[in-house]
Amino acid sequence: ERKGISRLRRLPARLTGGEDIELLANVELPAELPLLRRNGAQGIGLLRSEFLFDEDREWPDEMAQYAVYAGIVRGMDGLPTTIRVLDWGGEKGLERLRMLGYAAAEDGGNPALGMRGLRLLLHHPEILLTQFSAILRASMDGPVRVLLPMVTATNEIVTARELFEKAARRLRRKGVKLPSRLPPLGIMVETPAAAMTADALVQHADFLAIGTNDLTMYTLAVDRAMTMDSDLYSPLHPAVLRLIATTVNAALRGHRPVCVCGELAADPHAVALLIGMGLRSFSMTASALPPVKKLIRALSLEECDTLRRQAMLADDPPNLRAVVRNFRG
Ligand code: PEP
Ligand code: MG
Repeated sequence: ERKGISRLRRLPARLTGGEDIELLANVELPAELPLLRRNGAQGIGLLRSEFLFDEDREWPDEMAQYAVYAGIVRGMDGLPTTIRVLDWGGEKGLERLRMLGYAAAEDGGNPALGMRGLRLLLHHPEILLTQFSAILRASMDGPVRVLLPMVTATNEIVTARELFEKAARRLRRKGVKLPSRLPPLGIMVETPAAAMTADALVQHADFLAIGTNDLTMYTLAVDRAMTMDSDLYSPLHPAVLRLIATTVNAALRGHRPVCVCGELAADPHAVALLIGMGLRSFSMTASALPPVKKLIRALSLEECDTLRRQAMLADDPPNLRAVVRNFRG
């Protein structure tokens, strides 16, 4: 088994017809880097920065954050690292939310609906400026991309980009050397609002990352804490699929890179379907990479397209799940 994986690591994630698929890893802690490398990830598609710093400690300043980001970027040895700015809210960073004065769940507030992700950061621009500055410094240590969580409208991207550029100007004024071109600034598409207006969002975003975990939750009105295989919380629902299709089509028409980085990308059959829908890049937990790559190497684009056509015809979740489950017998 280990031998098989080590051979697989060196082989490209390529369809039988020669089309290359990009396989990236989702990362929460630096300790995951060895497995990611062992499993042949071509980069980090999603670094969830909210898990990098101890919840009980004081929030780290620019240089303390820089040290952590730079360590990961250098550890990737020239492969790209996509750093997502803080996504506090939902089920994450609740201690920090409380410290910023937002209602805790036990006070009747719902941390998934309201101040979360980018919205929260735009209300606390000093936190975002500090994080942008630390990430910009780390972009001298290797290729970096920056990702904004929980986007719902274009004006949020515009404001975030202004802060991004402001952070860069401040650093340069201080004499800090930065790359002549700033890192790409992309967005998570993980709300129905973002998916439905993706044609507008792509005008302001350098790349898109579809987060099927939250997209499923917000589309189906089911908490993502329900397990993956529960029938209620399943990204294989026609509504979620259509939102993914809308997003991919907008990205392709706008010539913006797009990847799927939610848990759906860890399901090899779902990846076949997503390839049929036009996706060529996936980011997943490192342990899921080998089975996904193994199936990709046995797949043709025609098969993926047939699966897509069957899936788009499935008019309810059980039918759709059956189509995907039964793919290739
Ligand atoms: C998602 O929502 O699908 C996603 C990738 O982000 P997270 O799981 O960190 O919310
Ligand atoms: Mg999310």
